[in-house]
Amino acid sequence: MANNLDPHYLVALMNYQFRSGQDGSARRMDPPSHLTSGIVDHHGTNVRTLPILDALAHISVSQPNSQVIAIALQLKPDTKEIRLTIAENRDVADSLVNHLYNIWRKLQALSDEYAGQRKAEWDGEQMLSPVIPLDVALPLKMEIFREVYKFSLEKQKKRVNKWFRALCDFMEELEKRRVGVALEGFERNLSNAMVSLVLALKLVFKHSENQLTDDEWEQVYWYSMIANKDIKLVLADRHGLGCDALAQELNGDGDGDPFQLQRALEKLISLPRHIESLFGFAHSPRLRSALQYHLTICAVPGQAQIVILPTSQEQWKSLLEAACGQPGQCQRNDARKLFQRFGSRARKCPVHCECGLIQYLQTKHCDSWDNVPAFSYIGVSKLSCSACRVWIEAFNMLGGPKFYTRGSHGKWYWPWVMPTMGVGSLRENMAGMVLDEYLMQLEKKEQIKRAGSDSSGASPSGAEHGVSNTDEQSIRVEAAAAVQEAGGALSGLISDNVQFLHANVPHSEG
Ligand SMILES: [Zn+2]
Repeated sequence: MANNLDPHYLVALMNYQFRSGQDGSARRMDPPSHLTSGIVDHHGTNVRTLPILDALAHISVSQPNSQVIAIALQLKPDTKEIRLTIAENRDVADSLVNHLYNIWRKLQALSDEYAGQRKAEWDGEQMLSPVIPLDVALPLKMEIFREVYKFSLEKQKKRVNKWFRALCDFMEELEKRRVGVALEGFERNLSNAMVSLVLALKLVFKHSENQLTDDEWEQVYWYSMIANKDIKLVLADRHGLGCDALAQELNGDGDGDPFQLQRALEKLISLPRHIESLFGFAHSPRLRSALQYHLTICAVPGQAQIVILPTSQEQWKSLLEAACGQPGQCQRNDARKLFQRFGSRARKCPVHCECGLIQYLQTKHCDSWDNVPAFSYIGVSKLSCSACRVWIEAFNMLGGPKFYTRGSHGKWYWPWVMPTMGVGSLRENMAGMVLDEYLMQLEKKEQIKRAGSDSSGASPSGAEHGVSNTDEQSIRVEAAAAVQEAGGALSGLISDNVQFLHANVPHSEG
């Protein structure tokens, strides 16, 4: 009976219920234990393709606001063909398809260079991959870095404008607290990372797009790679608790929430970190076949549908009663607020990219890919919303193929609409599952606020890319000289160099 409820009404209800935060189910998913149709028939190797698909989705984002990408992978080993299918919450632009073809071609060239260099040493049978040689194909790596960075520049500037000012304030406060004491370990890594970030970002923001010289891009590359290295150590400290402990300490007895240090760092290095994942992909001997196949990129047309929510306070009240199975006092109040929130107008709702992508893959298009199963992991540029998480779970219950993304950020978005496929049982499953979560929420009464989730999300790493000792030494010498020049303190470097941030970015105290 309850399953006859329209799942869209329930999603809107959850959007109202969790309007100020995330549901308690927010989580990052562990890699599923039964990945199917990957590049090779080996679970451990296929797990290493997850960060690559997420990286491809991440570097596809160029718009500063509300662009989300999902990417699926299919292979035809017999004819050596590979297909990437891309979806957004709207139509996919040709410029994105061209960008991905271009980057893929360069990754193929990088893979060839690595393969040529490796020929003599790797017998292909050992379980461990050889270490990535750090100096091979450096100009090509820099070219890939530069093109990816340029394509995503506006998005990157948005991240920096959102997080960097507060991080600078946090680091100045740290320096004040540790005055006269040399920073060690974790805090030293953090301080070093900050110097590299300042030096890289000041260049990125120096000119308008396309105007950095090749030398300047080279510097951005090196500083970003060194910052990545230091930030990886910071994030790994005490299994990720180091950041929380430091933020807590600096917040002291302050009234506000501690600074989200981990989240700020993850956001600021996300672009270079994903580029490093792609270098790892090009280096992997086991995944090399994918880069030797002929690539086709297919763009899923955007989908949207009109949804009409309950058109009166009375209708919302009936819905709440049906959902709870009984009338109650507070329902009148909630019904009034729901009607106020959503009004009575019809709303055009987008199908979110991961759901639209799955529908596309499950539909026959009368081409040679119709019967080629897709890899069960879908790369996403952002963690899924809760409605998409539940829809994918409901889809997976149908008994056919199963799909996974790396997890959900736990927010219920509205507008949201299901794809048109599988209207019958999928719709019922979805309604039943959302209703269960709604009732569970009512039982808990108190909303669970989960602090510090990251919607860009770190994926498990694949092959690790790094920087050679010699290069690292020389970059660190340059970084140290820049700090000396600014008076020897990080705060001096910050005040000399971060004028690039928009003046309207809030400057938090302490
Ligand atoms: Zn979604």
